[in-house]
Amino acid sequence: MHVLHHASQEEIYGAWMIEELAGHGYRLSAGTLYPMLHKMVEDGYLTVRTEREGRTIRKLYSATEKGRRGLAVARERMRILTQEGTGR
Ligand SMILES: [Zn+2]
Repeated sequence: MHVLHHASQEEIYGAWMIEELAGHGYRLSAGTLYPMLHKMVEDGYLTVRTEREGRTIRKLYSATEKGRRGLAVARERMRILTQEGTGR
């Protein structure tokens, strides 16, 4: 879900995402992240485009409309959970 959050703000790519998540304390390997990104593309939450930079081809991911909606729903759920947690 955190991936979607960033993908809704800017285009992201795998190596950057791994570093970004490491900054949050999540240790994610490329072997875990890439299948996850691939799945999100298949499910329609992300779109991917490839960009060639010299010899390397970079895959840039960004959130689709469906991805943004999914994120909004998740945020709302989180808000309700948080309120229930502190409301007692
Ligand atoms: Zn982050």
